[in-house]
Amino acid sequence: MIDLRSDTVTLPTEEMRRAMAMAIVGDDVYGEDPTVNQLEQLAASKMGKQSGLFIPSGTMGNLIAFLTHCERGDEAIMGDQAHTFIYEVGGVSALGGIMVHTVPNQLDGTIKFSDIQNAIRTKDVHFPTSKLIALENTHNRCGGVVIHQDFINSVVDLAQENGLKVHMDGARIFNAAIKLKIPVQNLLIGVDSVTFCLSKGLGAPVGSVLCGEQKFINRARRIRKQLGGGMRQAGILAAAGIVALETMVDRLAEDHHLARKLADNLRSFSNINIRENSPQTNMVFLDLIDDYPKSSAQIIQELKNNGILVGTSKNRGFRLVTHYGITKEDIDKVAEVLATVLQ
Ligand SMILES: *Cc1c(COP(=O)(O)O)cnc(C)c1O
Repeated sequence: MIDLRSDTVTLPTEEMRRAMAMAIVGDDVYGEDPTVNQLEQLAASKMGKQSGLFIPSGTMGNLIAFLTHCERGDEAIMGDQAHTFIYEVGGVSALGGIMVHTVPNQLDGTIKFSDIQNAIRTKDVHFPTSKLIALENTHNRCGGVVIHQDFINSVVDLAQENGLKVHMDGARIFNAAIKLKIPVQNLLIGVDSVTFCLSKGLGAPVGSVLCGEQKFINRARRIRKQLGGGMRQAGILAAAGIVALETMVDRLAEDHHLARKLADNLRSFSNINIRENSPQTNMVFLDLIDDYPKSSAQIIQELKNNGILVGTSKNRGFRLVTHYGITKEDIDKVAEVLATVLQ
């Protein structure tokens, strides 16, 4: 199968498997797993933050960040296409009692500065307290688009002026940094917390890391335990994460190259449109044109019959994600099969 549904389907490399087998481990709830500690330090230094916390998933990382920044009844401002708003099962509200205040995401993944400004509450006995602004980079629902440093800086300034914190859902922040050819920490200046995924394009089997100031991470560590996310000999997993950070970051450029190539191969197809801004990184978003007779379910089935898996997006759209399990030959085959299926 050529699996383009997501970069989460990547399998661990040989080197990861070896590192996992050989990892020196201890009880991480006691802070005694040297491999977890090493991963947390490595991650924090890459993000330009003081400290890191190894987390089972990106979803839990975002949840822990929100619970650490906000009290019950506080408000968190985010884009209406944010992963945390759409794909995290309402966790921040269900488990944290946090009010989500959404503002429209623009097509490029940013949010209008004035929309954020207007969403920040003044002090009034009637109002919830605005505590947090959450951004996402790369922005998944907006097409895997890159959020640039100047926008992030302006949001950080606004947050600081108003006593708010900024959280970055950086599940794919390395894709953004590689695309921009800058160190990832440049995208996090003044950002209070960031979560990134080891288990997407970086290929590790499990895990994300939440990074921030030491005091923030100390509190986050208690919340991770409260949520049942304290793991014991987690160095087995962290070992793969270290290999991911050391060997898998630069190669994300290949995924971007293949996504671009795929989009170029499909551009002449008359029954689909490639979505605006796509692809900037490792995601190609396609939409069936309105009067094309086949349903998207039918297309997905026919692709599957030909050994190709793709994701859906909105009602008549598809998401095709490149990753290190995908080769140039695969991309050529996908274009070939799509040409037949989309007759
Ligand atoms: C995948 C993803 C997450 C959550 O990651 P999981 O590890 O699947 O829980 C969070 N934010 C974004 C933007 C993502 O793409």
